[in-house]
Amino acid sequence: MAEPFSLYVHIPFCTAKCGYCDFNSYAGQDHLIPTYSQALVHEAQLWRSATAGRPVATLFFGGGTPSLTPLDDYGSIMAGLRSAFDIAPDAEVSLEANPGSVDEPYLRGLLDLGLNRLSIGVQSFHDDELRSLDRIHSAEDARQAFRAARAAGFDNVNLDLIFGLPEQPMERWQQSVEDALALGPEHLSLYALTVEQGTPLARDVERGRSPPTDPDAQADQYEWTQERLARAGYEQYEISNWALPGRRCQHNLTYWECREYLALGAGAHSYLDGVRFANAASPTQYLSLVEESWQALQAGGDNTPMRQVISGETITPPLAMSDTLILGLRLNEGVSLASFRGRFAVEVMDAFGERLQEPLANGLVELAEGWLRLTERGRLLGNEVFVRLLPED
Ligand code: SF4
Repeated sequence: MAEPFSLYVHIPFCTAKCGYCDFNSYAGQDHLIPTYSQALVHEAQLWRSATAGRPVATLFFGGGTPSLTPLDDYGSIMAGLRSAFDIAPDAEVSLEANPGSVDEPYLRGLLDLGLNRLSIGVQSFHDDELRSLDRIHSAEDARQAFRAARAAGFDNVNLDLIFGLPEQPMERWQQSVEDALALGPEHLSLYALTVEQGTPLARDVERGRSPPTDPDAQADQYEWTQERLARAGYEQYEISNWALPGRRCQHNLTYWECREYLALGAGAHSYLDGVRFANAASPTQYLSLVEESWQALQAGGDNTPMRQVISGETITPPLAMSDTLILGLRLNEGVSLASFRGRFAVEVMDAFGERLQEPLANGLVELAEGWLRLTERGRLLGNEVFVRLLPED
């Protein structure tokens, strides 16, 4: 059977831009949503022949705030995707939703269109923390969004939370986790706040208007969380992700297991047929480039022009080996030495032994039962390992 791939659809629109956010997302451009939805359908058609015969195993609508897009537009987008691609009947189909932007009829409509997994961007169950993050919803909005998801019939729901906010006491984080657990989601994604360069938060920290994050406090919160969620029956399967048994996010596993995916939309990054490539980031530029490609396709060229793709790189074996380790080590199970050997015809330790020597000696990674994996301590300090595995120039 032809190798399946995953499909990601980027919806870059947000009501307001959060101070810590460095995603490709834009406030004040909602008027573009109908045209953008149409462009996604056209872009899907552009990829139709190149992906023919390969089933889509998972589909993920990420953002931005995908839940700002009206149901009618999702009706057109889903019909367009189904006409361009062979979406497997049992495909996991996820959508990111922000509290305050969804209600039960909307969510029921999404389920009717074939979406079956919801990821709610809660971030905190404290209103003052939400304000400090520039989030425009309240803790009660988050609870309501979860209840609406359940009432609509979603039985696979993730909650996103952020820990390690500046000067956040441990008890405040613990309370947010307890509030999340009280709702009983199938999946939790918990991220440490990072101060990304170029964001308003980074400028505030530089100018002393906001205290910096505290890595020691973040490590304490992370360790407590690992223990608490294990007790609650959630399996940690990735550095930032926990799930009830059988509820791991299949789409995100595609990335960590270094399998192929096609990404549609402004600024979307793909990895297909051994090439990594990116679309134009600006929604208006993306719209005009997709339109040009679409017109050219309609005019009947043999080669589909992909003008929206503005950069690309062929993944050489050394790059693919680095990616396989850096992404695979994020998973608790780590990287299978046998499958690495099967894919690259070389042993992990022959290719990377020298660079892994120190992390092995320092107890950040371990070799056990045919797997290379981060240790508990290594999960806290993953970047110290990953930086050594980057491709050499
Ligand atoms: S809602 Fe999400 S994507 Fe939009 S600005 Fe905030 S963090 Fe970024």
